[in-house]
Amino acid sequence: MKPAFEPLAPVIVPVDSGDGFPVRRVFCIGRNYAAHAREMGSDPDRDPPFFFTKWAEAVVPSGTAIAYPPQTGNYHYEAELVVAIGRGGHNILPQEAAAHIFGYACGLDMTRRDLQNAAKEKGRPWDTGKNVEQSAPIGLIHASNALMTSGAITLKKNGEVKQSGDLADMIWAINDVIAYVSRFYRLEPGDLIYTGTPEGVGPVVPGDRLTVSIDGLSDLDVLIAPAV
Ligand code: MN
Repeated sequence: MKPAFEPLAPVIVPVDSGDGFPVRRVFCIGRNYAAHAREMGSDPDRDPPFFFTKWAEAVVPSGTAIAYPPQTGNYHYEAELVVAIGRGGHNILPQEAAAHIFGYACGLDMTRRDLQNAAKEKGRPWDTGKNVEQSAPIGLIHASNALMTSGAITLKKNGEVKQSGDLADMIWAINDVIAYVSRFYRLEPGDLIYTGTPEGVGPVVPGDRLTVSIDGLSDLDVLIAPAV
């Protein structure tokens, strides 16, 4: 039958090869750097990994002016390495995870921190805090399936360094993260995994410029636009 209205076209992220990467789903790992887990009030030695999801349509490319969202007074940046999945699989073994990687990019897991904290206090889902329109900016995807195990990750706000960490400080390495998520969902080509943020998260206001840099990848730049 004919659709009653035009279905949403997939978000397609530019790849360094010149191709586009059609986004299917977005998984985000929480508390994957010890110092950030501590700044959020958790014990990084005791907490097992966990993840939440965002709609694929929350993904926007580098250079986007993202609107300050409604229902928050504390919208936060979280600079993250994004792993793009190119080959599907269920119950992927850590030692076989690299074969499922399509590539890597710089990402931001933008968060309505006030809503996330309120949800945490009441034991409620994080959806309104995390799954926000335009809340998953991503840079150019660099095609590679070599495991990224180290490298500087930094976030600058208006040119000033606010987050500075190293991928080597991840509690759960890339291959462990892929294996873990694939135990709950069959990973599919087009899936993106945001792998967690180092310490130093903080708020933005309209007019702020954010730049995420990771060794070996292209920078991700976004501007915070006025509220919609
Ligand atoms: Mn995050």
